[in-house]
Amino acid sequence: MSELTTGSFSIDDLENVQITINNIVGAIEKEAESIDAEMGPTVKPGVSSLRDWDHNILDRYNAVYTPMCDQCCYCTFGPCDLSGNKEGACGIDLAGHNAREFMLRVITGAAAHSGHGRHLLHHLIDLHGKDFPLDVGATNIIAPNVQLVTGVQPKTLGDLDSVLSYVEEQLTQLLAAVHMGQEGAAIDFESKALHGGMLDHVGMEISDIAQISCLDFPKADEEPPLSDIGMGCLDSSKPTLIVIGHNVAAITDIIDYMDEKDLNDKMEIGGLCCTALDMTRYKAGDGTPPTAKIVGTLAKELKTIRSGIPDVIVVDEQCIRADVLEEASKLMIPVITTNDKVMYGLKDRSDDDIEDILEDLTTGKEKGALMFDYEKLGELAPRLTMMMSEIREQKGIKALPAEEDLKTIADSCVHCGACEIACPDSLPISEAFTRLSEGDLTKFEWLHDKCIACGRCEYACPKDIDIVDVIEKSSQRVISEEVGKVRVGRGPISDPEIREEGVNLVLGTTPGIVALVGCSNYPDGTKDLYTVAEEMLRRNYIVVVSGCSAMDLGMYKNEDGLTLYEQYPSRFRSGGLMNTGSCVSNSHISGAVIKVAAIFAQKNISGNFEEIADYTLNRVGAVGVAWGAYSQKAASIGTGCSRLGIPVILGPHGSKYRRALIAKPYEEEKWTVYDARNGSEMKIPAAPDYLLTTAETVEEMMPMLAKSCIRPSDNNMGRMIKLTHYIELSQKYLGVMPNDWHKFVRTETDLPLAKREELLKILEAEHGWEIDWKRKKILSGPAMKSDVSAQPTNLKRLCKEA
Ligand code: SF4
Ligand code: SF4
Ligand code: SF4
Repeated sequence: MSELTTGSFSIDDLENVQITINNIVGAIEKEAESIDAEMGPTVKPGVSSLRDWDHNILDRYNAVYTPMCDQCCYCTFGPCDLSGNKEGACGIDLAGHNAREFMLRVITGAAAHSGHGRHLLHHLIDLHGKDFPLDVGATNIIAPNVQLVTGVQPKTLGDLDSVLSYVEEQLTQLLAAVHMGQEGAAIDFESKALHGGMLDHVGMEISDIAQISCLDFPKADEEPPLSDIGMGCLDSSKPTLIVIGHNVAAITDIIDYMDEKDLNDKMEIGGLCCTALDMTRYKAGDGTPPTAKIVGTLAKELKTIRSGIPDVIVVDEQCIRADVLEEASKLMIPVITTNDKVMYGLKDRSDDDIEDILEDLTTGKEKGALMFDYEKLGELAPRLTMMMSEIREQKGIKALPAEEDLKTIADSCVHCGACEIACPDSLPISEAFTRLSEGDLTKFEWLHDKCIACGRCEYACPKDIDIVDVIEKSSQRVISEEVGKVRVGRGPISDPEIREEGVNLVLGTTPGIVALVGCSNYPDGTKDLYTVAEEMLRRNYIVVVSGCSAMDLGMYKNEDGLTLYEQYPSRFRSGGLMNTGSCVSNSHISGAVIKVAAIFAQKNISGNFEEIADYTLNRVGAVGVAWGAYSQKAASIGTGCSRLGIPVILGPHGSKYRRALIAKPYEEEKWTVYDARNGSEMKIPAAPDYLLTTAETVEEMMPMLAKSCIRPSDNNMGRMIKLTHYIELSQKYLGVMPNDWHKFVRTETDLPLAKREELLKILEAEHGWEIDWKRKKILSGPAMKSDVSAQPTNLKRLCKEA
């Protein structure tokens, strides 16, 4: 058999022939090094460098604003009433102000990640020196986002330094544009927001590749170890240290000290939020299961403190409740802060003697301490934990109400409903109290999973009931059973994995990448994520997860007691489930998409943002989901995806970010691109039909996921597979056929095989298409034709005859 290595061929005339292309890498296996001799046109782009690309996508994906309020109070001219799109005293209108508000959230998120990166980098360079080599596993493209945006191919920690300076400089320029009397047009605030989102992925990547390289994290590991997760996995009889935040720099010294002093069996160390994920990655590069445990997401912070289980709390940065010190000190839990972003007014004890600090904290003279010396922290925190455990026990510190008091508390509820009005998810608290009065705990047990422990209900309650405590106390049984498994964050996707899967993704035969990322502000409890992941894994999508979503996914098991992590391989392939790691590891998800273009399609990625984003939007079926997005970081992560051509769905709370990017499928002129072979215009399917949107329910989202992975470049087999899922998911979750499925049909071979005849009948009867029933072929009707060698692009300059 002759071997095809380069060139193209047409398979238009082949009917029902399955072509399996296992390996065409022979033709494309040029090392990334040699490809990257060239540099693209946008190396270290400034605020306006990618404006054309932004305006291009914003022309199809229009900003839709959902103002949280119609005032602006940014300066002393105001507050200004902008209702009805009136202008404020400075001349800005409501659309402009909302675009500015959205952009501010994006750059705040990007600053949080790059601030994290800067802190880590300083720390790691101090420890290891600027020449410490970067090593993130089997890849020639160590930092796809960094390379795409800046053209730099970093090799050492020191190389990351200048890239981060670029990000910081750009973020300063963007923040300056928020000042009154700067930008006036909503569309250019949008462009700036997209710029901030792109920078965010660079900042995240810097943070993660630095820590992967220096802290012996798994490196593109296809079988990283499993970690325990859940409030129930802590042995509360042992002294317990809880860490909260995102920056593992301080925590590694604690883990080292515990290892050295053989404390691992004598005390517990558990984490909340991304620090938890990163501390389980620490020293897991050789597959060693971590001793540290993941307690859970931000939604578990207040619950964990109120449970009284922690003997000491150590916080670093981001997504930490502002009332940790106040709540902890009620239960005599000392708090140690380790980062200048969160200091809680505590005294800086970095230069003090450990014995003196221990004395002050164990006697309650000080509620906590600020400690920037991490070596000292390594010793201080575990020793303090052991001491406090004894002291707190002796003092008989009581956390939650006693079981026998629950009924009295329940009876004090006057059912005014104030708590339910205050609750962001309108949870039925009053009814739960009625049931509790009757001795029935089940409604509170149910509520426990839905409640994000924000504490707003308690502020509203006229009877001063500690509602969160009641939820927790009533749910002790279910909490003790809250034990799951999470695969430790594996880091990036390796080059061999991309080589193997790239072709399937671009042709559509692997139906797409579904990335479940972000925070825990879910509209309806934690199980939604599991439902989505399981459904998409069974349908052979590649499911990639990170952050809080990666945690909650591991809390559910099948009838054999296995989590999804144990049922599905941690490999970047059809039906694979990968936890890339903490929030900063989201950069490996965008990184994988960039690498598909670099490795599979041999695109130069250095300083070549537009072309790669254009490639993604037209050819790589991928969709992000931030179902519980609440933070500014989630806005920046999503916006970075938008600029790169990856659509993102947010849960219903996402509308509070104030803007979506939504296209109009019926505006036919918006759904054309150029064919790069000759510059002619070609029609494309109206998918994805948004770049950032919200869904109200998981049921609504399911078919959206399948549709969002449809791309112009799908071959017939790929389109058939994607359409099958789209139709089936719509029927399963919404009970109806989608009303636009026919718009994605180019030939009869795009139709789901099992339903082909039935669908041909619908096309003929309802849409007036002409069918040759003898050959079961479509004769006329489709708006698009199938052409596997077409080269769809939004960029005229990439066309041969442009
Ligand atoms: S703590 Fe829970 S129940 Fe109370 S308002 Fe917040 S989400 Fe609702
Ligand atoms: S606010 Fe307090 S008194 Fe009113 S219904 Fe809620 S728990 Fe009962
Ligand atoms: S809205 Fe969000 S960021 Fe603001 S105080 Fe509440 S939880 Fe914090």
